[in-house]
Amino acid sequence: MQSFLGGNEMLRIENLTKSYGDKVAVDNLSLHIMPGEIYGFIGHNGAGKTTTLKACCGILNFDKGEIFIDGLSIKADPYGCKKRIAYIPDNPDLYEFLTGIQYLNFIADIFGISAHERKEKINEYSELFDLKANLAQHISSYSHGMKQKLAVISALIHSPKLIIMDEPFVGLDPIATHKLKQLMRKICDEGGAIFFSTHILEVAEKLCDKVAIIKEGKLVISGTMSEVMGNTSLEDVFLELEEKDA
Ligand code: ATP
Repeated sequence: MQSFLGGNEMLRIENLTKSYGDKVAVDNLSLHIMPGEIYGFIGHNGAGKTTTLKACCGILNFDKGEIFIDGLSIKADPYGCKKRIAYIPDNPDLYEFLTGIQYLNFIADIFGISAHERKEKINEYSELFDLKANLAQHISSYSHGMKQKLAVISALIHSPKLIIMDEPFVGLDPIATHKLKQLMRKICDEGGAIFFSTHILEVAEKLCDKVAIIKEGKLVISGTMSEVMGNTSLEDVFLELEEKDA
């Protein structure tokens, strides 16, 4: 089984290329994310963020390159990788005919989480996101934000080492946004890693350890916040890069 033995990156993307027909959505992109890092992924609409994130999760095939999760190849060992990651899509597709608690138990069953452990996790996170009182309701009755919270809770049940999130703050109220940011920091302080896309540059600037900016499928800049921003703001850097060659 192919695995990467060179380092201890939680996520290693090497020369990722993905096209849809003639459209090159991601072009030779390489990124490395270490344990402990919150890594922001920034880019204009259609830049290639979702395509990259889905490729990392093993739910979208790619044409060239390699992706390693905690040393395992997503192509050669997709199950090994999926045990280690959680993916929160921008628009979570949940089973609306289930209640919140039925859905969380379903996800816990998939990952083989014991009754004791799942109870602890569900209690902790549903209290944190103020969803406990709604878990007996059908998901079809949830608001967009409640569905987003449920998707976040379900993603944490198996204690993933790497969390991949596509615009996780969209639809969350300010309290839930604040709690999610605190939780992201805690998970990474305890050795996890987070790779997430966002259009909210102020949040990225304050929250992320590192950031990458993608433009028309190509990585244009990446590094620590201070390396990327210098003395300016992330917004200034982003706007300057977007205006270049426009
Ligand atoms: P946004 O910020 O709007 O969510 P994004 O950076 O996530 O955008 P992607 O969704 O990865 O961008 O799309 C990258 C490019 O690939 C776009 O030009 C998009 O139109 C194209 N694309 C994405 N999915 C498909 C698909 N299934 N079929 C054809 N083209 C696609």
